[in-house]
Amino acid sequence: MPRSKSASDRPLRDQIVESLTPDDAAAEHARLEEEIAAHDARYYQEDAPSVTDAEYDALRRRYEAIEARFPDLRDTESLSEKVGAAPVAKFAKITHAVPMLSLGNAFSDEEVVEFVARVRRFLNLPADETLCFTAEPKIDGLSCSLRYEHGRLVSAATRGDGSQGEDVTANVRTITEIPHVLKGDGVPELIDVRGEVYMDKGDFLALNARQEEAGKPLFANPRNAAAGSLRQLDSAITAARPLRFFAYAWGEASSLPADTQIGVVHAFGSWGLPINPLTILAEDAAGLLAHFRKIGEMRAQLGYDIDGVVYKVDRLDLQRRLGFVSRSPRWALAHKFPAEQATTVLEDIEIQVGRTGALTPVAKLIPVSVGGVVVSNATLHNEDYIRGIGGDGAPIRGGVDIRIGDTVVVQRAGDVIPQVVSVVLEKRPEGTKAFEFTRHCPVCGSLAVREVDPKTGKQDAVRRCTGGLICAAQAVERLRHFASRNAFDIEGLGDENVQLLFDADLVRAPADIFRLHERGDELRNAFLAQRELRAQQREAETGKARKNRLADEKRQFLGVENSPCGRDQCQAPRPPLRRHGRPARCCACGGDAGGDGGGGRPRDHSDGGCIGGARPRESPAPQAAGQ
Ligand SMILES: [Zn+2]
Repeated sequence: MPRSKSASDRPLRDQIVESLTPDDAAAEHARLEEEIAAHDARYYQEDAPSVTDAEYDALRRRYEAIEARFPDLRDTESLSEKVGAAPVAKFAKITHAVPMLSLGNAFSDEEVVEFVARVRRFLNLPADETLCFTAEPKIDGLSCSLRYEHGRLVSAATRGDGSQGEDVTANVRTITEIPHVLKGDGVPELIDVRGEVYMDKGDFLALNARQEEAGKPLFANPRNAAAGSLRQLDSAITAARPLRFFAYAWGEASSLPADTQIGVVHAFGSWGLPINPLTILAEDAAGLLAHFRKIGEMRAQLGYDIDGVVYKVDRLDLQRRLGFVSRSPRWALAHKFPAEQATTVLEDIEIQVGRTGALTPVAKLIPVSVGGVVVSNATLHNEDYIRGIGGDGAPIRGGVDIRIGDTVVVQRAGDVIPQVVSVVLEKRPEGTKAFEFTRHCPVCGSLAVREVDPKTGKQDAVRRCTGGLICAAQAVERLRHFASRNAFDIEGLGDENVQLLFDADLVRAPADIFRLHERGDELRNAFLAQRELRAQQREAETGKARKNRLADEKRQFLGVENSPCGRDQCQAPRPPLRRHGRPARCCACGGDAGGDGGGGRPRDHSDGGCIGGARPRESPAPQAAGQ
């Protein structure tokens, strides 16, 4: 039921800027400053944003609107004078010779028209004089400045707070797309090439699959994956991550190869730096908006995430005349895409237990189309996100909690899991109650707790089941880890087979794996049942019946013909399971499987372990990946 309230009854955060008294404005300015700074820290330093970009932009705009109305509130500490957060302490710092500023944002066509008009007014251009702009996709990655001296890459830094960034030189050198030496004509003695480090969508999905396989946290989106990968203290981890780069700007330069924006960017391309092929020139707002729509239509098909289109005055002499205002150049504008959002009703909150015992709340929604995709589930991130108050006490969504029955705004951006981003408070039904996040695991009933990091004293945002092996969800995960390449490296016992053996009650704990030979018939039957199920599924999908069905007793398992232990008296039915890496009893017959008895030293398949002969694992092992 919509309620109308007088402005004075409402909390400050809900009052429009125009109605604020000077005292209220100061209080609201301070509150926003704190909230934005907290979000900045999460975004820039922890790569774990707790609000959407659109919400963040809204906070930022409100903050700037207050400063516009009450200029006295702006001081040197004002966020309007800063870009992002200070660099993380663990990296060495690099001071940018020319600051890396961020661009002013626009969300509507009118703002783009006004931008072009403003530039023309500032330059005092006659109506008939042409003014060219570049228009290029805004890559959703991590800005980076690459310093080349005499054509050689000497250092690389993140944006950081705009004036000082993190030294990521060693990591940037592992990015194959970034040349260590610039080739061709007109390479200046010194130039800071600026651009975006990003991860393409396919590589992002593959990385998350590996993270999941390794039981590590998933990245929320390609941007976070790129940031998390670039800002690794161990550059070997960065090297294993498929990062890419687009060059689109520059900082300090001893000379420039052209006198236009597009000319310099094309020179970058000729020197061997990757540049974006969708950069064009346009002569007016209509041309810019046409390119904006064209790129918007291509967005889903592009291999990388973008969040808008950037317009820049093409002539560099005009850029210099236009200069800067506050934290942004007057000659450039970032025209952002609206996030794809829709409104629906939250019917229930389901708690899912991850394989590591993490309790994750999932919103069950009345199905709604969001940008052409029907969404009925969306992530609610964690307990604090539902409560509307972060672990650090900072408000999320202005402190509004999420309740079952609420009308909520759901957002889908790129390949990211849809998320609930806000609550339509006016539509909250009577009698709703704050959601009580369970203190017990819904799978096994064990106590679920939020651990406190003894070093930082910070409480984990994630509540975890303490059930350990009692918990089916966790037991399977532990078994998977036990069998994985990094642990006991048991051939044939991949994720799928672990689940199969767990469900068949054959393996509930790691020790059961080594007693499987006692349950050969059951094991064989479990695999046969699974194969039969798959075959039936294939028949149902293809509509084709199998031609030759082998009698069960005639079937063979891959590799069973090779005796796992090499002993003639081994009569056990041999499952496709073999342990490698450390000496042990044969997992099929219990016989001595060879090896030197030392244990613990990592080995490849052919060294130690079962002496029945090595064969390649059925699936490729996960690549080393870390946070
Ligand atoms: Zn549990």
